[in-house]
Amino acid sequence: MTEPSRNYVNGEWVASETGETAEVTNPANPSEVVATYQHSNENDAAAAVDAAVAAEDEWRNTPGPERGRILREAGTLLAQRKDELTEILIAEEGKARPEAAGEVQRAIDIFHYFSTKAADLGGTKKGASGPNTNLYTRQEPVGVAALITPWNYPIAIPAWKLAPALAAGNTVVLKPASIAPGVVIEIARALDEAGLPDGVLNVVTGPGSSVGSEFIGNEGTDLVSFTGSSQVGEMVYEQATDAGKRVQTELGGKNPTLVADSADPAEAADIVANGGFGTTGQSCTACSRAIVHEDVYDDFVAELVDRAESLDVGPGTDHEMGPQVSESELSSTLEYIDIAEGEGATLVAGGGVPEGEEVETGHFVEPTVFTDVDPDMRIAQEEVFGPVVAVIKVSDFDEGLAVANDVDYGLSASVVTDDHTEANRFVDEAEAGVVKVNDKTTGLELHVPFGGFKRSSSETWREQGDAGLDFYTIEKTVYDNY
Ligand code: NAD
Repeated sequence: MTEPSRNYVNGEWVASETGETAEVTNPANPSEVVATYQHSNENDAAAAVDAAVAAEDEWRNTPGPERGRILREAGTLLAQRKDELTEILIAEEGKARPEAAGEVQRAIDIFHYFSTKAADLGGTKKGASGPNTNLYTRQEPVGVAALITPWNYPIAIPAWKLAPALAAGNTVVLKPASIAPGVVIEIARALDEAGLPDGVLNVVTGPGSSVGSEFIGNEGTDLVSFTGSSQVGEMVYEQATDAGKRVQTELGGKNPTLVADSADPAEAADIVANGGFGTTGQSCTACSRAIVHEDVYDDFVAELVDRAESLDVGPGTDHEMGPQVSESELSSTLEYIDIAEGEGATLVAGGGVPEGEEVETGHFVEPTVFTDVDPDMRIAQEEVFGPVVAVIKVSDFDEGLAVANDVDYGLSASVVTDDHTEANRFVDEAEAGVVKVNDKTTGLELHVPFGGFKRSSSETWREQGDAGLDFYTIEKTVYDNY
């Protein structure tokens, strides 16, 4: 048994004061303990905030290019360890190897991207009304950022919060999801080796209700960036705003792909299957509703069923679709399958756990398709977070658009059509933070803004790219009369 992994606080690897640890098991083989992490409490979290507060001045006064150099070096170290990180990610979270490797590469790219941004942070020179006046703006760091992240993209999401926070000169306390914290520990290790000063980044593992809540409530933190479920995120938003913090929350989704009558059913099925079954349906942007014109409905369903039934499900190490991350996520998906059947939807593919030696003990579920779904059914309204696609038949484009928008969420939405006017109307009218034409709902490049509408987001600040830096900076206007 390897030593339990430790928290990273003030540049040291430390044990929690609780003396307790928590095991992470392999979702493809739950009897295998992958690693053990600190089960920390409020005091551990408070000590991390103290370290981040103490490091503030040094880091904000470190020149941007030097901050950038450290981020670049950390990215390079992560790149050298890409294979090792991919293995940790597969073993803890379960996703298929190409997905895990792609996610690790994304984190590397994010560190390199924000390393250049650190040097470019500046302000704008303005024209002054009076004589002999320099009038300009500066972008300054906000202070201490509390970052709370989910398990489903355990390295990319922490990276897309952490890199801009550090690039802009903030110090950070970070609580990764307890299910898959290993890759965040590796980010801390890389930054430490790259020369990040003590206290600038502090990582504490443990429950959200104690560690996460202390980060939000502690008067030392100034910013809260949270990604996770809408249920938890809405509580976090309230707690953070009550405490007077700048806050962004990016939350759940119920993402539609609208398939118009001009769509090629096979192409549309590829798009929906990729969006719905990729990452085992455990993406916030996963397609969980296919809203299909009646003229192409039967052909589309046949094609989608074919995609679902031909997917190779098994351990992420060497199969196309990995397991769900945990027993409780699997149970929740199976419960939604029961609910859908109870509500009268027709199960046309999957619906159970697969059979076979390799999938006997893991949290595996079959890619699942329901037809005859009514837009009001729970399967069409609530986030399932598993590889389940609900197919809804509509008789024209306007009805499809109305159904697409008729949910509480608004993260990502796509349309498959050959009609230019329909495509543009969809872009205009879809209530979602990301809208795509002839593309899957999942996937976004690292330099474009990311965030949702409605219950998918606090709608306060976007993440990624230049928009991502805005959250971590505050503008100062300067009059310099000479
Ligand atoms: P979750 O809400 O259960 O947990 C997210 C994080 O919050 C974890 O680190 C958890 O420990 C912490 N937490 C739990 N209770 C807390 C509390 N009271 N105070 C502070 N922190 C607390 O979400 P999850 O199951 O890890 O992730 C899946 C969810 O995340 C899905 O709903 C998915 O759609 C969403 N998600 C959204 C995006 C996006 O960008 N919109 C991206 C990925 C995932």
